[in-house]
Amino acid sequence: MKKHILVIPGDGIGQEVTTWGKAVLEKIGQQGGHEFTFDEALMGHAAIEATGTPLPDETLEKAKASDAILFGAIGHIKYDNDPTAKVRPEQGLLKIRKELGLYANLRPIMLFDELLGASSLKPEILKGTDILFFRELTGDVYFGEKKRSDDRNTASDLMIYHRYEVERIARKAFEAAQARTKRLCSVDKANVLEASRLWREVVQELAKEYPDVETEHMFIDNAAMQLVKNPKKFDVVLTANLFGDILTDEASQIAGSMGMLASASVGDGTGFFEPIHGSAHDIAGQDKANPLASILSVALMFEISFGLKEEAARITSAIDKVLKDGYRTADIADAATDKSKILGTTAMGQKVLEYL
Ligand code: NAD
Repeated sequence: MKKHILVIPGDGIGQEVTTWGKAVLEKIGQQGGHEFTFDEALMGHAAIEATGTPLPDETLEKAKASDAILFGAIGHIKYDNDPTAKVRPEQGLLKIRKELGLYANLRPIMLFDELLGASSLKPEILKGTDILFFRELTGDVYFGEKKRSDDRNTASDLMIYHRYEVERIARKAFEAAQARTKRLCSVDKANVLEASRLWREVVQELAKEYPDVETEHMFIDNAAMQLVKNPKKFDVVLTANLFGDILTDEASQIAGSMGMLASASVGDGTGFFEPIHGSAHDIAGQDKANPLASILSVALMFEISFGLKEEAARITSAIDKVLKDGYRTADIADAATDKSKILGTTAMGQKVLEYL
């Protein structure tokens, strides 16, 4: 198979972790059967510094021309502390999602048994958890009208959903549920929000087309609580952009760390694969970032965009063996970890290549 992949490292640890995602792609390519070619492009703070805009036209053109995109993360501390900045790194990410029509963000909560002790939750609560989140990605308060009054003392963000937006992601989630354990939980806040009432109405209508799927509706506040109380209760979780953003960060604690969770954004255009974490200023440039989420994003790329299930399994199995042999980055180490096996970003990336 011949595929052209655009690598967008972005900012902070995004640049460090995508090095290893790309290295894994190269390794699988060298192992035979596939030819992967690469290009690189700017986004976020790095793009603002170089071109004055967070998503240069050149990046968008390269993205549209590629078979898949491997992305790191965007963000810089200077914007986090300056809410008045008009040009911001995250505008690049929101725009590329919209331009490529990437309306469905799939976030599997994959739990390696070896990391049961790395989570802040009890192992007996976690063991056996396997959740697939469908987070809507191109609607909600992220894209609704934003307003600030003339005196700057009042602000609002419009939470807006159209029927077709709910329907297209709900279909993907129902289809995934059919291929899994046939359970779907749709999370909203329909007791308070009109946008959520539309969401629930559309999901209830669609559920009639999937009678083999057991459909449940849950309010976001309850879902946030149930997720840590009894995560095994969930299989496919379908939710809106804002709720999905928050709920999946919470769910990252099931997998042990933000550094373990990968995601796939799919829809009309080129598939976009990225860790769920941000640019992590607190550890950027210190060789501390866990590269496994970026490497797992490549496994998702193989499975979802290229249909290469065997290669995807080879990657997760290499990571599993690395963990079984006791190697950890600091974020997934616990009291029982052999200190000599706590690795930095580079050593962990190399270890995965070695096991591959
Ligand atoms: P973050 O995800 O960057 O970091 C949260 C915490 O998790 C930090 O303590 C960090 O050290 C840790 N962490 C994250 N990834 C890790 C990894 N691979 N290995 C080890 N530890 C890891 O979130 P934040 O601190 O809220 O935001 C930092 C910046 O990232 C902000 O500018 C924000 O806007 C941006 N951001 C970008 C994205 C994205 O690009 N998709 C997502 C979230 C936040």
